[in-house]
Amino acid sequence: MIETDLLIIGAGPAGCSAAIYAVRAGVKTVVAGGAIPGGQLLQTSEIENYAGFVNPVGGFEMMDAMHKQCKRLGVEITSDEVEHISGEKSPFTVLCSGGKEYKAKSIIIATGATARWLNLPEEKEFKGKGLSACATCDGFFMRGKKVCIVGGGNTAFEDALFLAQFCTEVNLIHRRDAFRADQVTVEQVKNNPKIKLILNSVPVKILGTDAVEGVRVKNVKTGEETDLSCAGLFVAIGAVPQTEFLKDSLVALADNGLVLADERTHTTIEGIFAAGDCADKYYRQAVIAAGSGAKAGIEAAAFINLHR
Ligand code: NAP
Repeated sequence: MIETDLLIIGAGPAGCSAAIYAVRAGVKTVVAGGAIPGGQLLQTSEIENYAGFVNPVGGFEMMDAMHKQCKRLGVEITSDEVEHISGEKSPFTVLCSGGKEYKAKSIIIATGATARWLNLPEEKEFKGKGLSACATCDGFFMRGKKVCIVGGGNTAFEDALFLAQFCTEVNLIHRRDAFRADQVTVEQVKNNPKIKLILNSVPVKILGTDAVEGVRVKNVKTGEETDLSCAGLFVAIGAVPQTEFLKDSLVALADNGLVLADERTHTTIEGIFAAGDCADKYYRQAVIAAGSGAKAGIEAAAFINLHR
């Protein structure tokens, strides 16, 4: 059993920011970052809306800098995958895969979110065979080919622009004719001759034998179905909080899986805090995750120092 003041679960912007604040408040801090510590930003090509960077910064570059900053300040970042939290009150026991256990006076949950899928029966068969939820990761394989992307948020629109740089044609399929993506990005997409908007439409079947060859879309207003040929289908329809591991714990979750936390990041268990996309219903921005992580770091440090 490894003892620590604070165990932070997740090494994205929320977890790193929490760690920076806690360690600078004199708290022994370990971050369990999972197999590839870094979170969703590792799959983001360029970030232009995080204050302090004159030019766009790569997601990997940003996370690498955060990890180095944490380590310089004395935070330990591990690849531990947390499986379970037990205990009604501090100290808590945290079980990781492989049987490793931590005893922590306080915990910050900063596990982020993962891609949501369409729930089409063919998805399982085609994942990795032209079907992907990460254009930044898999777009390269579609060089010189025709692709489709599903979604109406910033991710889908930014991914469409990214794919249009090297694909021959990008069909952006969205279930409405209004978008969640910001206006600047929407205009860029509309002005890109390689991108075609397929609106009021939803994918109903992924077509292909060994790999994706197309997608059947249904117009939700007319009921008409159309087959679009494509070598790649990218799904960018939002995210699901990574909170499965909390289902058997005492930390309360909302129906949508988000950790219930108040504006000061306190969960329903005293001494356990939550920050970032795993507890964020509205914003899901790196800068907001980092900000809420800072709050959680301050709160956890105060809790620990009060109970020393
Ligand atoms: P999002 O904003 O939640 O958008 C998800 C989109 O997928 C929505 O347009 C939604 O349609 C659609 N959708 C959801 N479920 C669907 C389903 N089952 N079938 C078909 N369509 C479905 O998610 P996101 O684009 O991943 O963005 C998440 C957050 O990160 C947002 O706050 C976004 O602004 C932010 N973000 C920011 C940047 C940036 O600033 N650089 C980049 C990427 C993401 P409806 O609109 O009809 O609900």
